[in-house]
Amino acid sequence: MAYDTQPKASHFVDGAYLEDTAGELIEVIYPATGEVIARVYAATDAVIEAAITSGRRAQAQWAAMSGTERGRVLRRAADIMRERNHELSVLETFDTGKPLQETLVADATSGADALEYFGGLAGSLTGEHVNLGGDWGYTVREPLGLCVGIGAWNYPTQIACWKGAPALACGNAMIFKPSETTPLCALKVAEILHEAGAPAGLYNVIQGMGAVGGKLVTEPRVDKVSLTGSVPTGRKVYAAAAEGMKHVTMELGGKSPLIVFEDAEIDNAVGGAINGNFYSTGQVCSNGTRVFVHSSIKDAFLARLKGRMAGIVMGDPQDEATNIGPMVSQRQRDIVEGYIAKGKAEGATLIAGGETPEGAGFYIQPTVFADVTDEMTIAREEIFGPVMAVLTFDDEAEVIARANATEFGLSAGVFTRDISRAHRVIGQLRAGSCFINSYNDAPVELPFGGVKASGVGRENSKAAIEHYSQLKSVYVRMGDVEAAF
Ligand code: NAP
Repeated sequence: MAYDTQPKASHFVDGAYLEDTAGELIEVIYPATGEVIARVYAATDAVIEAAITSGRRAQAQWAAMSGTERGRVLRRAADIMRERNHELSVLETFDTGKPLQETLVADATSGADALEYFGGLAGSLTGEHVNLGGDWGYTVREPLGLCVGIGAWNYPTQIACWKGAPALACGNAMIFKPSETTPLCALKVAEILHEAGAPAGLYNVIQGMGAVGGKLVTEPRVDKVSLTGSVPTGRKVYAAAAEGMKHVTMELGGKSPLIVFEDAEIDNAVGGAINGNFYSTGQVCSNGTRVFVHSSIKDAFLARLKGRMAGIVMGDPQDEATNIGPMVSQRQRDIVEGYIAKGKAEGATLIAGGETPEGAGFYIQPTVFADVTDEMTIAREEIFGPVMAVLTFDDEAEVIARANATEFGLSAGVFTRDISRAHRVIGQLRAGSCFINSYNDAPVELPFGGVKASGVGRENSKAAIEHYSQLKSVYVRMGDVEAAF
């Protein structure tokens, strides 16, 4: 392989690569071939200790700098990421199997957006003066301290930056633990931040499975935990963080509704459903996997969808013509195959896909089921793979109630030409990140996150600042102190 996917060492701690082969071996598998492309080791207690000690030291140094100085480092890191976009995208494709066609525009670029945006905000983070009628008060916006980021495997570069950029902008340090499935990309983020001038130890990356994440979450010297992962992991991490009274952000799973009314522009709605189910081979938390189509346009919708699926190019993800790559792992493909089997067994109509291609790599065909009912497993559980469930509805109030009848609440989308209906329906959907006549856009300027079991807190936008800083309030008396005795 021409591209060297083996990192210099497993961890990036205190401004340098760090190895400790006493940790458990993690083999990094290229999802397109099943080959081992790198080997890293889970963090030992010694590595965790080095990350915590250097993180706390760097945080004190970093918080003493002005916001403008901190912002300059983040914006420089954004520039380096953009300059290195091609190389970083190739690595992201090796790490995840996502097609280069996507990674070139959605991963390092979105990480750079976050670094640039929060770098721009850093100098303007302030408290306020409060007039108290003679006396007065003021607030100081302070960092939380040492933050821990724990990532899922679907967007390793983006997640590392979406957590790191606001944390650092606010004057915190971060220890980031990538998913054991995709350990490579976050190391590059750490390298780039260091090259951009971040003090050694400010952004440490350490590898490991859930156990390493668990140690970080229960560590008393950690002040905040931000997790991107599944709801079951979120429940565990949230509970463990609560024990230490730590701040949390939880970016968890979903089973989001995408509602297509009878007056929708069908090609746009089909495009939205494709983006919301098959991008990144369906491994996107906010996907609109329950596609509710008005019964009067069901046949037209399915016909257009089937036609557009002829444009699928599944294959080598490093080939820029490929638009569907493999699943991230054998394990994830097995899970998706299980759901496809359940869809068939429970009586949904298979419209497209459903097969696992022969040969190497964890490929699976993008799959569409129609005649799905609310009770079927594929309409209730997060699949996290390229499986679209098409359901029908007749009435606005009915579809809103059915769309909301889930424990999740990450995203929701509506396609209609009726602007009043679009806003009325979105207003009643219980979801954090919503779309009108679009699906799955996630610009850094808009808050991203879920309600109900899908999460707590928000990433991106000014809202993220609230989750990485706290206010100290100071009362200033101008006169004498009155006391009872
Ligand atoms: P996961 O199994 O929940 O793992 C997420 C991360 O948590 C991994 O790094 C994992 O480590 C770690 N972890 C597991 N148990 C832990 C514990 N007890 N304490 C601390 N850390 C622990 O999720 P995944 O399979 O990687 O990712 C898919 C899920 O992420 C889906 O549900 C998807 O919807 C969700 N997701 C949500 C968003 C969002 O922004 N809302 C974005 C992307 C993905 P190891 O896996 O290495 O053991």
